[in-house]
Amino acid sequence: MNRKLSVKLGLVLILCFVMLLTACSSGNNGSGSATSGNTPKEETNAANAPKENVKISFMGHGSPQEKDIFAKLIKSYEAKYPNVKVEYTSVPPAEYNQKLSTLIASGKTPDVFYVSGPQFFKYAEAGTIQSLQPFLETTELFQEDNVWKQALDRYRYDGKMVGQGDLYGLPKDVGPWAMAYNKTMFEAAGVELPPAEVGKWTWDNWLDAAKKLTKDENGDGKVDIYGGANFTLEGAVWASGGDFIDHKTGKITIDTPEFASAMQWVADLRLKHNVTPSPEDEKAMNAYSRFVAGKVGMFPMGPWDQPGFWDLPFDWDIAAWPVNPATGKAGTWVGSMGYSVSSKSKHAQEAFNLAAFLALDNEGQKQNYELGQAVPNLIDMAKGEFVSYDKAPANRQVFLDIIEDYGHPTIDFGSKDTKWIDTMWQEAGKVYDGKMTAAEWAKELQPKLQELYDKGNK
Ligand code: CA
Repeated sequence: MNRKLSVKLGLVLILCFVMLLTACSSGNNGSGSATSGNTPKEETNAANAPKENVKISFMGHGSPQEKDIFAKLIKSYEAKYPNVKVEYTSVPPAEYNQKLSTLIASGKTPDVFYVSGPQFFKYAEAGTIQSLQPFLETTELFQEDNVWKQALDRYRYDGKMVGQGDLYGLPKDVGPWAMAYNKTMFEAAGVELPPAEVGKWTWDNWLDAAKKLTKDENGDGKVDIYGGANFTLEGAVWASGGDFIDHKTGKITIDTPEFASAMQWVADLRLKHNVTPSPEDEKAMNAYSRFVAGKVGMFPMGPWDQPGFWDLPFDWDIAAWPVNPATGKAGTWVGSMGYSVSSKSKHAQEAFNLAAFLALDNEGQKQNYELGQAVPNLIDMAKGEFVSYDKAPANRQVFLDIIEDYGHPTIDFGSKDTKWIDTMWQEAGKVYDGKMTAAEWAKELQPKLQELYDKGNK
């Protein structure tokens, strides 16, 4: 045997030995060795064995009433998935964002948590939350065409911008901002009731009604009952064909004639016509309390205001927002809060199941609307039993028209940083106090807001 051959043989032997070892070790791992003989048995056991008990955390915010509702919904979820225990934390709304970012920074991100517009954008971009698309494709709860597009689109992210791409969240709710009115007050004043159908009532009709309802009851020269709470600027701007921002380009668009005329109209409701409360009146009694006390005729409300209004000593309903006579269009905003799943969740499937249950399960959606918290996310339920539900408001269809037809996302949609919006509201007083015209104000403020937006968002 020559030396070369013996080395070759030695190598072959070593190779055989290594192969044997590999075969043995893979057999020990139960992953494919025919000799171990226990692989099929293991598979059978895995299918039959009880699922591993897991604990997931869920954080939201809201009123004590909302907390009670969620405690109930979570019990239903746990009954459906008996191996999962949910640790639920409800934080006061004002503390929520701070608490959440502290948890995220310290590596204790809840498995499931509430997200809203700007936070959603930030967390999707930072990779804090994960795409739900892979899970959605396997759940029977999700039928995309039975969930409001308006609600789903808030939770899409394509790696660059929100509003398109994969779903990184599911809607908790969809909140159409509707116009409530005190029916008893309208009838007592002999004012024609505002219609539920959009397009039949204009801003002029609204102002007419407001003038008739506004009263100084004790003759001291000060108004005691106002026709309307402050008309929302967002709705007025959209109805005029204007906007605050083009969120696709990041251009602040308040310096347009459409915007200026809408804002001036809102400001003049008090400055010229004195049919809405002044900022001082607002300080003394906010619009909500004023409506509840029967001291304002028309007031914008969200679906979550229903339980508080069910006990009122007067009749009320909701009407379509009036249209700007110049455009024939109405406008208002639709709010939404969503559920997202942490990308660090150790139990992403269970976390997703909770989000999907809360957002899409029939029973949960039914409980939620019956308690007056929200319009169902499920279109068939909203257009079916919700619309004919035997509690005020009678014109429930108005909520659905806003979602489907003339409601816009709140103006913070598409912004990660909202300092430009905070500043805009702080500065708006100058127009409402009559110190500047809306056109002067918008021209002066646009560059400042643009700078703030660019700084925080680009
Ligand atoms: Ca008075």
